[in-house]
Amino acid sequence: MADFNFRSPEERIYHPLLDKYGVQLYVKRDDMIHPFISGNKWRKLKYLLQAASRQNKKHLVTFGGAWSNHIVATACAGARFGFRTTAYIRGEQVDNSVLMLCRLFGMKLRFVDRQSYRDKRELYDRYHGNETDAYFVDEGGSSLEAVRGCAEIITELENPYDHICCACGTGTTIAGIAAGLNEQQLNMKPHAFPVLKGAGFLQKDLLELGVDSDQLVWHYDYHFGGYGKTPPLLLQFIHDFARQTGVLLDPIYTGKLFFGIFDLVKNGYFPTNSRILAIHTGGLTGLLGKQDDLLRTLNDTNDHE
Ligand SMILES: *Cc1c(COP(=O)(O)O)cnc(C)c1O
Repeated sequence: MADFNFRSPEERIYHPLLDKYGVQLYVKRDDMIHPFISGNKWRKLKYLLQAASRQNKKHLVTFGGAWSNHIVATACAGARFGFRTTAYIRGEQVDNSVLMLCRLFGMKLRFVDRQSYRDKRELYDRYHGNETDAYFVDEGGSSLEAVRGCAEIITELENPYDHICCACGTGTTIAGIAAGLNEQQLNMKPHAFPVLKGAGFLQKDLLELGVDSDQLVWHYDYHFGGYGKTPPLLLQFIHDFARQTGVLLDPIYTGKLFFGIFDLVKNGYFPTNSRILAIHTGGLTGLLGKQDDLLRTLNDTNDHE
Protein backbone atom coordinates (compact mmCIF):
# COMPACT_ATOMS: atom_id res chain seq x y z
CA MET A 1 0.00 0.00 0.00
CA ALA A 2 1.26 3.47 -0.87
CA ASP A 3 2.82 5.45 1.95
CA PHE A 4 0.87 8.17 3.64
CA ASN A 5 2.62 9.65 6.61
CA PHE A 6 1.90 13.04 8.03
CA ARG A 7 2.88 13.96 11.54
CA SER A 8 0.32 16.48 12.71
CA PRO A 9 1.75 19.53 14.49
CA GLU A 10 1.15 20.60 18.09
CA GLU A 11 0.12 24.26 18.03
CA ARG A 12 -0.39 26.62 20.92
CA ILE A 13 -3.73 28.43 21.16
CA TYR A 14 -3.64 32.02 22.34
CA HIS A 15 -6.78 33.34 23.99
CA PRO A 16 -7.40 35.90 26.78
CA LEU A 17 -9.31 33.37 28.89
CA LEU A 18 -6.33 31.02 28.95
CA ASP A 19 -4.03 33.88 30.03
CA LYS A 20 -6.45 34.94 32.73
CA TYR A 21 -6.41 31.48 34.31
CA GLY A 22 -2.71 30.92 33.67
CA VAL A 23 -3.09 27.71 31.66
CA GLN A 24 -1.53 26.74 28.35
CA LEU A 25 -3.67 25.11 25.70
CA TYR A 26 -2.19 23.24 22.74
CA VAL A 27 -3.94 21.49 19.89
CA LYS A 28 -2.70 18.44 18.07
CA ARG A 29 -3.88 19.32 14.59
CA ASP A 30 -5.06 15.95 13.32
CA ASP A 31 -7.52 17.95 11.22
CA MET A 32 -4.48 18.80 9.08
CA ILE A 33 -3.72 15.17 8.25
CA HIS A 34 -5.92 15.41 5.16
CA PRO A 35 -9.01 17.45 4.15
CA PHE A 36 -11.21 14.34 3.79
CA ILE A 37 -9.28 11.43 5.34
CA SER A 38 -9.17 13.66 8.32
CA GLY A 39 -8.19 13.35 11.92
CA ASN A 40 -8.90 10.23 13.83
CA LYS A 41 -10.61 8.68 10.80
CA TRP A 42 -7.23 8.25 9.13
CA ARG A 43 -5.69 6.87 12.32
CA LYS A 44 -8.57 4.41 12.64
CA LEU A 45 -8.34 3.29 9.00
CA LYS A 46 -4.57 3.04 8.71
CA TYR A 47 -3.98 -0.48 10.05
CA LEU A 48 -7.32 -1.75 8.74
CA LEU A 49 -6.33 -0.79 5.20
CA GLN A 50 -2.90 -2.35 5.64
CA ALA A 51 -4.54 -5.58 6.80
CA ALA A 52 -6.98 -5.49 3.87
CA SER A 53 -4.13 -4.90 1.46
CA ARG A 54 -2.08 -7.82 2.88
CA GLN A 55 -5.08 -10.10 2.40
CA ASN A 56 -5.41 -8.93 -1.22
CA LYS A 57 -8.79 -7.38 -0.57
CA LYS A 58 -9.87 -4.81 -3.13
CA HIS A 59 -13.30 -3.71 -1.95
CA LEU A 60 -14.00 -1.88 1.30
CA VAL A 61 -17.56 -2.23 2.55
CA THR A 62 -18.58 0.07 5.35
CA PHE A 63 -21.48 1.70 7.20
CA GLY A 64 -22.58 5.07 8.52
CA GLY A 65 -25.02 7.96 8.67
CA ALA A 66 -25.60 10.40 5.82
CA TRP A 67 -23.14 12.98 7.19
CA SER A 68 -20.55 10.53 8.46
CA ASN A 69 -16.91 11.63 8.57
CA HIS A 70 -15.93 7.97 8.47
CA ILE A 71 -17.81 7.40 5.20
CA VAL A 72 -16.14 10.27 3.36
CA ALA A 73 -12.73 9.29 4.78
CA THR A 74 -13.21 5.72 3.56
CA ALA A 75 -14.34 6.93 0.13
CA CYS A 76 -11.27 9.12 -0.31
CA ALA A 77 -8.81 6.64 1.24
CA GLY A 78 -10.23 3.88 -0.98
CA ALA A 79 -9.65 5.99 -4.08
CA ARG A 80 -6.16 6.91 -2.95
CA PHE A 81 -5.00 3.41 -2.00
CA GLY A 82 -6.68 1.43 -4.76
CA PHE A 83 -9.80 -0.05 -3.21
CA ARG A 84 -13.35 0.02 -4.54
CA THR A 85 -15.71 1.29 -1.85
CA THR A 86 -19.34 0.67 -0.96
CA ALA A 87 -21.16 2.27 1.95
CA TYR A 88 -24.45 1.31 3.53
CA ILE A 89 -26.10 4.53 4.61
CA ARG A 90 -28.63 4.48 7.42
CA GLY A 91 -32.06 5.85 6.52
CA GLU A 92 -33.93 7.01 3.43
CA GLN A 93 -32.20 7.93 0.22
CA VAL A 94 -30.91 11.51 0.32
CA ASP A 95 -28.46 13.74 -1.48
CA ASN A 96 -26.17 16.02 0.49
CA SER A 97 -22.78 17.65 0.09
CA VAL A 98 -20.89 14.95 2.03
CA LEU A 99 -22.50 12.11 0.07
CA MET A 100 -21.70 14.04 -3.09
CA LEU A 101 -18.01 14.03 -2.08
CA CYS A 102 -18.24 10.28 -1.44
CA ARG A 103 -19.62 9.74 -4.95
CA LEU A 104 -16.93 11.95 -6.47
CA PHE A 105 -14.40 9.58 -4.89
CA GLY A 106 -16.19 6.71 -6.61
CA MET A 107 -18.00 5.23 -3.62
CA LYS A 108 -21.21 3.29 -4.23
CA LEU A 109 -23.97 4.22 -1.80
CA ARG A 110 -26.77 1.94 -0.68
CA PHE A 111 -29.48 3.27 1.59
CA VAL A 112 -30.93 0.88 4.15
CA ASP A 113 -33.77 1.26 6.62
CA ARG A 114 -32.87 1.54 10.27
CA GLN A 115 -34.09 -1.98 11.07
CA SER A 116 -31.80 -3.71 8.53
CA TYR A 117 -28.97 -1.33 9.40
CA ARG A 118 -28.85 -2.67 12.95
CA ASP A 119 -27.14 -5.91 11.96
CA LYS A 120 -24.22 -4.80 9.83
CA ARG A 121 -22.60 -8.23 9.72
CA GLU A 122 -25.82 -9.68 8.38
CA LEU A 123 -25.98 -7.00 5.65
CA TYR A 124 -22.39 -7.67 4.76
CA ASP A 125 -22.83 -11.45 4.64
CA ARG A 126 -26.00 -11.17 2.59
CA TYR A 127 -24.57 -8.90 -0.13
CA HIS A 128 -20.83 -9.53 0.01
CA GLY A 129 -20.48 -12.95 1.64
CA ASN A 130 -19.44 -14.55 -1.67
CA GLU A 131 -17.17 -11.76 -2.81
CA THR A 132 -13.61 -12.96 -2.21
CA ASP A 133 -12.04 -9.49 -2.36
CA ALA A 134 -14.51 -7.68 -0.06
CA TYR A 135 -13.40 -6.39 3.34
CA PHE A 136 -15.70 -5.47 6.24
CA VAL A 137 -14.99 -2.10 7.88
CA ASP A 138 -17.26 -1.47 10.85
CA GLU A 139 -19.13 1.80 11.37
CA GLY A 140 -16.67 4.50 12.40
CA GLY A 141 -13.80 2.08 11.69
CA SER A 142 -14.09 0.75 15.23
CA SER A 143 -11.65 -2.13 15.79
CA LEU A 144 -8.48 -3.13 17.62
CA GLU A 145 -6.52 -1.93 14.57
CA ALA A 146 -8.16 1.46 15.11
CA VAL A 147 -7.03 1.54 18.75
CA ARG A 148 -3.50 0.78 17.60
CA GLY A 149 -3.65 3.59 15.04
CA CYS A 150 -4.95 6.09 17.60
CA ALA A 151 -2.20 5.14 20.07
CA GLU A 152 0.16 6.84 17.60
CA ILE A 153 -1.32 10.18 18.67
CA ILE A 154 0.78 9.62 21.79
CA THR A 155 3.94 8.17 20.22
CA GLU A 156 4.10 11.20 17.91
CA LEU A 157 4.01 13.81 20.69
CA GLU A 158 6.99 16.13 20.77
CA ASN A 159 6.20 17.91 24.05
CA PRO A 160 5.02 16.94 27.53
CA TYR A 161 1.51 17.81 28.78
CA ASP A 162 -0.38 17.41 32.04
CA HIS A 163 -3.78 16.79 30.48
CA ILE A 164 -4.89 15.38 27.15
CA CYS A 165 -8.49 15.94 26.06
CA CYS A 166 -10.46 14.24 23.32
CA ALA A 167 -14.08 14.09 22.08
CA CYS A 168 -15.71 10.64 22.16
CA GLY A 169 -18.21 8.98 19.88
CA THR A 170 -17.50 5.26 20.07
CA GLY A 171 -14.58 5.93 22.42
CA THR A 172 -12.07 4.20 20.14
CA THR A 173 -9.85 7.26 19.85
CA ILE A 174 -9.62 7.91 23.59
CA ALA A 175 -9.03 4.16 24.08
CA GLY A 176 -6.04 4.44 21.73
CA ILE A 177 -4.78 7.47 23.60
CA ALA A 178 -5.05 5.64 26.93
CA ALA A 179 -3.31 2.58 25.44
CA GLY A 180 -0.54 4.81 24.08
CA LEU A 181 -0.05 6.50 27.45
CA ASN A 182 0.20 3.09 29.16
CA GLU A 183 2.68 1.76 26.62
CA GLN A 184 4.90 4.81 26.88
CA GLN A 185 4.39 5.03 30.65
CA LEU A 186 3.60 8.70 30.31
CA ASN A 187 2.13 10.60 33.18
CA MET A 188 -0.54 12.64 31.37
CA LYS A 189 -4.15 12.56 32.47
CA PRO A 190 -6.52 11.55 29.65
CA HIS A 191 -9.93 13.32 29.63
CA ALA A 192 -12.91 11.97 27.69
CA PHE A 193 -15.67 14.28 26.42
CA PRO A 194 -18.59 12.17 25.12
CA VAL A 195 -20.75 13.93 22.51
CA LEU A 196 -23.68 11.58 23.10
CA LYS A 197 -26.23 11.77 25.87
CA GLY A 198 -26.20 8.88 28.34
CA ALA A 199 -22.73 7.78 27.31
CA GLY A 200 -22.17 5.63 30.41
CA PHE A 201 -22.08 2.57 28.13
CA LEU A 202 -18.72 3.76 26.83
CA GLN A 203 -17.00 2.48 29.94
CA LYS A 204 -17.89 -1.11 29.04
CA ASP A 205 -17.02 -0.57 25.37
CA LEU A 206 -13.59 0.67 26.39
CA LEU A 207 -13.00 -2.46 28.42
CA GLU A 208 -13.68 -4.50 25.26
CA LEU A 209 -10.99 -2.43 23.56
CA GLY A 210 -8.60 -3.32 26.37
CA VAL A 211 -8.73 -0.08 28.36
CA ASP A 212 -9.80 0.41 31.98
CA SER A 213 -12.10 3.44 31.90
CA ASP A 214 -11.15 4.31 35.49
CA GLN A 215 -7.84 5.64 34.25
CA LEU A 216 -9.74 8.38 32.38
CA VAL A 217 -11.54 11.46 33.61
CA TRP A 218 -15.05 11.53 32.12
CA HIS A 219 -16.82 14.81 31.36
CA TYR A 220 -20.44 13.90 30.63
CA ASP A 221 -21.94 17.39 30.60
CA TYR A 222 -20.91 18.70 27.19
CA HIS A 223 -23.16 16.74 24.80
CA PHE A 224 -25.51 19.76 24.26
CA GLY A 225 -28.61 17.59 24.24
CA GLY A 226 -27.22 14.58 22.40
CA TYR A 227 -25.45 13.38 19.29
CA GLY A 228 -25.81 15.83 16.41
CA LYS A 229 -27.57 18.42 18.59
CA THR A 230 -26.07 21.85 17.99
CA PRO A 231 -27.87 24.64 19.86
CA PRO A 232 -26.99 28.31 19.14
CA LEU A 233 -24.74 28.56 22.23
CA LEU A 234 -22.45 25.92 20.73
CA LEU A 235 -22.47 27.45 17.23
CA GLN A 236 -21.75 30.87 18.71
CA PHE A 237 -18.77 29.36 20.54
CA ILE A 238 -17.46 27.83 17.31
CA HIS A 239 -17.81 31.23 15.62
CA ASP A 240 -15.99 33.03 18.47
CA PHE A 241 -13.24 30.42 18.56
CA ALA A 242 -12.67 30.61 14.80
CA ARG A 243 -12.42 34.40 14.75
CA GLN A 244 -10.23 34.54 17.86
CA THR A 245 -7.81 31.74 16.99
CA GLY A 246 -8.05 30.97 13.27
CA VAL A 247 -8.88 27.35 14.07
CA LEU A 248 -12.15 25.90 12.78
CA LEU A 249 -14.01 23.39 14.92
CA ASP A 250 -16.74 21.00 13.80
CA PRO A 251 -20.17 21.18 15.46
CA ILE A 252 -20.54 17.45 16.24
CA TYR A 253 -17.31 16.66 18.08
CA THR A 254 -14.52 19.19 18.46
CA GLY A 255 -16.83 22.18 19.08
CA LYS A 256 -18.24 20.36 22.11
CA LEU A 257 -14.75 19.35 23.24
CA PHE A 258 -13.32 22.87 23.18
CA PHE A 259 -16.46 24.34 24.74
CA GLY A 260 -15.98 21.81 27.55
CA ILE A 261 -12.30 22.65 27.99
CA PHE A 262 -13.03 26.39 28.13
CA ASP A 263 -15.83 25.79 30.62
CA LEU A 264 -13.51 23.75 32.87
CA VAL A 265 -10.85 26.47 32.62
CA LYS A 266 -13.44 29.10 33.64
CA ASN A 267 -14.37 26.97 36.64
CA GLY A 268 -10.75 26.84 37.77
CA TYR A 269 -10.62 23.08 37.16
CA PHE A 270 -7.06 23.10 35.80
CA PRO A 271 -4.37 24.32 38.22
CA THR A 272 -2.28 27.33 37.16
CA ASN A 273 0.52 26.49 34.73
CA SER A 274 -1.26 23.34 33.52
CA ARG A 275 -0.30 22.28 30.04
CA ILE A 276 -3.40 20.98 28.28
CA LEU A 277 -3.42 19.21 24.94
CA ALA A 278 -6.66 18.97 22.96
CA ILE A 279 -6.87 16.57 20.03
CA HIS A 280 -8.44 18.17 16.96
CA THR A 281 -9.94 15.00 15.54
CA GLY A 282 -10.92 16.76 12.30
CA GLY A 283 -14.36 16.23 10.78
CA LEU A 284 -14.80 19.73 9.39
CA THR A 285 -17.25 18.53 6.73
CA GLY A 286 -19.63 18.35 9.72
CA LEU A 287 -19.99 22.13 9.30
CA LEU A 288 -21.73 21.51 5.98
CA GLY A 289 -24.43 19.48 7.68
CA LYS A 290 -25.24 22.42 9.94
CA GLN A 291 -25.01 25.14 7.32
CA ASP A 292 -28.52 26.54 7.87
CA ASP A 293 -28.15 26.70 11.65
CA LEU A 294 -24.71 28.26 11.31
CA LEU A 295 -25.99 30.95 8.94
CA ARG A 296 -28.77 31.75 11.40
CA THR A 297 -26.20 32.14 14.20
CA LEU A 298 -23.98 34.35 12.04
CA ASN A 299 -26.92 36.51 10.98
CA ASP A 300 -27.98 36.92 14.61
CA THR A 301 -24.49 38.02 15.63
CA ASN A 302 -23.86 41.70 15.95
CA ASP A 303 -20.55 42.10 14.16
CA HIS A 304 -20.14 45.74 15.21
CA GLU A 305 -19.70 45.22 18.95
C1 LIG B 1 -15.57 10.14 14.51
C2 LIG B 1 -15.10 11.34 15.20
C3 LIG B 1 -14.85 11.35 16.59
C4 LIG B 1 -15.18 10.18 17.49
O1 LIG B 1 -14.19 9.23 17.56
P1 LIG B 1 -14.40 7.89 18.36
O2 LIG B 1 -13.16 7.12 18.13
O3 LIG B 1 -15.60 7.20 17.74
O4 LIG B 1 -14.65 8.19 19.78
C5 LIG B 1 -14.32 12.50 17.16
N1 LIG B 1 -14.09 13.60 16.41
C6 LIG B 1 -14.34 13.63 15.10
C7 LIG B 1 -14.09 14.89 14.36
C8 LIG B 1 -14.84 12.51 14.44
O5 LIG B 1 -15.09 12.56 13.12
